Amino acid sequence: MSETGQQVLSVRNLKKYFDVRSGVLARKTGQVYAVDGVSFDIAAGETLGLVGESGCGKSTVGRVIMRLLDPTSGEIHLKGDDISTISKSDVRAYRREMQMVFQDPYSSLNPKLSAGTLVSEPLKNFKEGSATDIRQRVTKLFERVGFKADAMERYPHEFSGGQRQRLGLARALAVNPSLIVADEPVSALDVSVQAQVINLLIDLQDEFNLALLFISHDLAVVEHVSHRIAVMYVGKLVEITDTQTLFKNPQHPYTEALLSAVPTPDPLASKEKIILAGDVPSPINPPKGCRFHTRCPEAMSKCEKIEPLFLELSHDHKASCHLLSN
Ligand code: SF4
Repeated sequence: MSETGQQVLSVRNLKKYFDVRSGVLARKTGQVYAVDGVSFDIAAGETLGLVGESGCGKSTVGRVIMRLLDPTSGEIHLKGDDISTISKSDVRAYRREMQMVFQDPYSSLNPKLSAGTLVSEPLKNFKEGSATDIRQRVTKLFERVGFKADAMERYPHEFSGGQRQRLGLARALAVNPSLIVADEPVSALDVSVQAQVINLLIDLQDEFNLALLFISHDLAVVEHVSHRIAVMYVGKLVEITDTQTLFKNPQHPYTEALLSAVPTPDPLASKEKIILAGDVPSPINPPKGCRFHTRCPEAMSKCEKIEPLFLELSHDHKASCHLLSN
């Protein structure tokens, strides 16, 4: 992995609430607190893994950063510009700076367009050079993600899942972005193919000096890819630090539980698995106090009433738990 550089993305106190409506008049009856005050930074050449169980709000964070969804409040700074409140038409100017790679590239690739057209489309939209320049750049990108030139004439359905994800990467990289948001980019792929796509993503990030937000439920994959990891639970970050520290010295009981479920390469190494009681609470009515208190093996009475602060434990290590402030 490359050395990290200047800040590309800064997210501050980001919130995204969705209205819950019911009845024939579709009256607002509540809110889904999908993202509830999330802050982090990503530098050039750096990967931040965003991890948490299904429904914790991590994909919504990615979509709000990309401005596919409008934030309820908070700030999103892309290379210093606050893009959180700009209009949809102004967002377009920033599209070339930030690209998204989806879990299922098939649904994001127009099946009627050839692979070559799909990858050249963003370049044409941003009027990036002559037809010959674009053709040359697309040919290079195809080579870079491991395709022969004749793959440009094929259609999405003619590619396997892993090949489609490589095609999605070529398309995302076409306009030379500074930031890529990859939302579960390998979770739909066979395990044998996952490693190829992940290694390609790591190589491309290094080569293009990308800031990468890697969203996944799979902590083992996130560990392999990320410089730093942010752990999310019911709309909030509960811990953020560098990958090594998170794995060696987790401070939040939820992080400990997630880590206890990660398989170790050494079959003889014993590890006690922490089984969390109950289900993930609904983000419509999140628990008061610490949101994790309904499942936390170490919960105390104050955890039900008082929300813990997101404490700076050491340089670049923050976590929110009352145990850390005692
Ligand atoms: Fe558990 Fe309490 Fe810490 Fe929340 S604040 S993680 S409930 S000990």
